[in-house]
Amino acid sequence: MKKISLLGATGSVGTQTLQVVREHPDQFAVSALSFGENVERALPLIHEFKPELVSVKDKSVAERIRKDVPGHVKIVYGLEGMIEAAAYPKSEMLVNSVLGSIGLEPTLAAIEAGKTIGLANKETLVTAGHLVMERAKKSGVAILPIDSEHSAIFQSLQGQDRKAVSRLILTASGGSFRDRTREELRNVTVEDALKHPNWSMGAKITIDSATLMNKGLEVIEAHWLFHMPYDRIDAVIHKESIVHSLVEYADHSLIAQLGLPSMLVPIQYALTYPKRLELKQTKRLNLWETGSLHFQKVDRQRFPCLSLAYEAGKAGGSMPAALNAANEEAVQGFLSGRISFLDIETLVESALENHQIIKDPNLKAIEETDRRTRAFVRSQIEKKS
Ligand code: MG
Repeated sequence: MKKISLLGATGSVGTQTLQVVREHPDQFAVSALSFGENVERALPLIHEFKPELVSVKDKSVAERIRKDVPGHVKIVYGLEGMIEAAAYPKSEMLVNSVLGSIGLEPTLAAIEAGKTIGLANKETLVTAGHLVMERAKKSGVAILPIDSEHSAIFQSLQGQDRKAVSRLILTASGGSFRDRTREELRNVTVEDALKHPNWSMGAKITIDSATLMNKGLEVIEAHWLFHMPYDRIDAVIHKESIVHSLVEYADHSLIAQLGLPSMLVPIQYALTYPKRLELKQTKRLNLWETGSLHFQKVDRQRFPCLSLAYEAGKAGGSMPAALNAANEEAVQGFLSGRISFLDIETLVESALENHQIIKDPNLKAIEETDRRTRAFVRSQIEKKS
């Protein structure tokens, strides 16, 4: 029985992680979980999965759920609570599916405590990949990707000669605005942007898919996870989201992982790795039903956020942390109707220009970068609205 700490239990990946646990009650158990403030969604999950420790957003949420949760369940809150849940002694593995840079410290705490990490929190690697990978190596801890693209690459690397890898190729659906011109992007609404053709995901990541910033963040993630220089990581538009990513080897063989779009597969693979289990909740891919698969070169002019991410990644140091913070604030600004869709890229670009890079930043420098960049972008949004 593998015991899991799950952070972000009521989110999209969190809920699907619990779906995997639900299908294999003899294999997995949840010993600690965290959620923010979605009490209605969380309470039934707490009763069903019976964690011993529950971490919530703040003290008021903790007080609100006390009477509805069995007495022996320990309730904690805030970042400290999340760290306690991540490093919970009885858990063997952390599944980190919280959104945003708040996921970093709990990941580091779990690494320190020797847990295997299932990582769905992109920001952890984007903002502090150098720290995370270095500490994971030191603690002998595996970082298993829970992102469909990285899981596909990870799966395509199994049993292969790692030294013979020549290129990683991430596929991108192109998001909700794939076929629109820049002119047509000028007046798109939040509602338009949230209609993703293939994946049902949270609002932030759906916007990131439409700007291709999501792919940019994934390029940085791949750089750290697979120790690959940026000029050997590519992205290709693939509208069907059937080929989840590919690895190119020295002999120009491409090895890919395919399947119908479902996050359950990468989640379960991280949980069962290196084994595989049946997964009844997913459907078989019949290629004759799909018929044809399409691939298209990414137009960097059309999707400048991808270029910004490459630039930030190559610059290194604190630049990716600035990129991530600027993007989070800008997307928030768009979602709340204060700025237009195309303002997202402009704001991120000016935040990067404004940022004084810190080489080899420690945790404090990363937090400082995050705080300052957010303040900068907020002040820019303020000026616009
Ligand atoms: Mg992805």
